[in-house]
Amino acid sequence: MANRDFEIIIVGAGPAGLTAGLYAGRSKLKVVCFEKLAPGGEILNTEHVEDYPGFELIGGPELAQKFTDHAMKFGLKIEMEEVEEVRKDGDDFVVKTDMGEYRAGAVIYTPGGYPRKLEIPGEEEYAGKGVSYCALCDGAFFQDEVITVIGGGNSAVEEAQFLTKYGSKVYLVHRRQGFRAHAVALDKLKDNDKVEFILDSVAEEVVGDDKEMKALRVRNVKTGETTEVAANGLFVFIGFIPNTDLIKDPVEKDESGFIITDQNMETNIPGLFVAGDCRSQLIRQITNACGDATTAAVAAEKYLEAQEDAKKSSAAAAAS
Ligand SMILES: Cc1cc2nc3c(=O)[nH]c(=O)nc-3n(C[C@H](O)[C@H](O)[C@H](O)COP(=O)(O)OP(=O)(O)OC[C@H]3O[C@@H](n4cnc5c(N)ncnc54)[C@H](O)[C@@H]3O)c2cc1C
Repeated sequence: MANRDFEIIIVGAGPAGLTAGLYAGRSKLKVVCFEKLAPGGEILNTEHVEDYPGFELIGGPELAQKFTDHAMKFGLKIEMEEVEEVRKDGDDFVVKTDMGEYRAGAVIYTPGGYPRKLEIPGEEEYAGKGVSYCALCDGAFFQDEVITVIGGGNSAVEEAQFLTKYGSKVYLVHRRQGFRAHAVALDKLKDNDKVEFILDSVAEEVVGDDKEMKALRVRNVKTGETTEVAANGLFVFIGFIPNTDLIKDPVEKDESGFIITDQNMETNIPGLFVAGDCRSQLIRQITNACGDATTAAVAAEKYLEAQEDAKKSSAAAAAS
């Protein structure tokens, strides 16, 4: 273990990575967090956060800065390096970045993921100005407004139902007649008076002025007819892709590709802990990314202690 560069390496400085860093730092562990873009993660792309306890309304970038400052205050080192590979080597982990290779006793893996995009004109331009990928995060900003939702799976159907709490009307746009979503949830949505289905149709363009989205242009794939649906919001639920491919050992994942952990956030690979958006769980929010990461940091510390104890006992046994 003498040649370890760090006790813990954290991959990604989003809410999960920064929280893990804060706790590991407070425990005076030798820890580093590698980040490829900028500390803060997805909340840097979020204009407003209004569901993080203690802050009724805070700008995403401001919250990201607070997370970063807080973790660094307790000694977290954040290095701007892109992680390319994480692999186990005996009792150690080797983390390869674009700048070097580092050894650690445990890894807390928190590189998040990203929502699948429609990749249509206007989608990027109106992101945060009508276009969203998170109903729980942004739904409340669409009180009494008209909302469009895209997708045919459970997320789209459940989130469309959730958005009827806020929107005056919710259009669900889906490319087929059939849905992958569970029948019970779908039936419930069909019974909701606020909801109208636009089937056999695909989104073609988000239309708006210089401030915000005003409509969604959709094309019927059977007739080729194009219509403009007047709406202030577009929620896209066509999949979320977790960043899991940096792990080179066979890590256990669920059917959607998210990493499975036990209640201590440890994977099937001893010493590899996962927290935040790339972990298999019910929802993806800042609060539970932080909660997961807290557990991961404490569990990683206990893992290292147990490893040290085991090493001492085997050395003592060998000497006697
Ligand atoms: C548009 C939008 C709005 C949202 N609004 C809210 C909200 O209002 N409230 C709420 O609770 N949640 C919200 N969320 C969800 C919330 O942002 C996520 O649940 C949370 O950020 C997850 O934290 P994380 O640390 O797991 O991942 P992330 O925030 O994704 O952070 C992962 C970090 O890892 C880095 N990284 C990735 N790959 C590598 C690599 N190879 N090497 C080094 N670094 C790497 C990334 O650059 C990133 O900084 C929103 C999400 C989106 C997309």
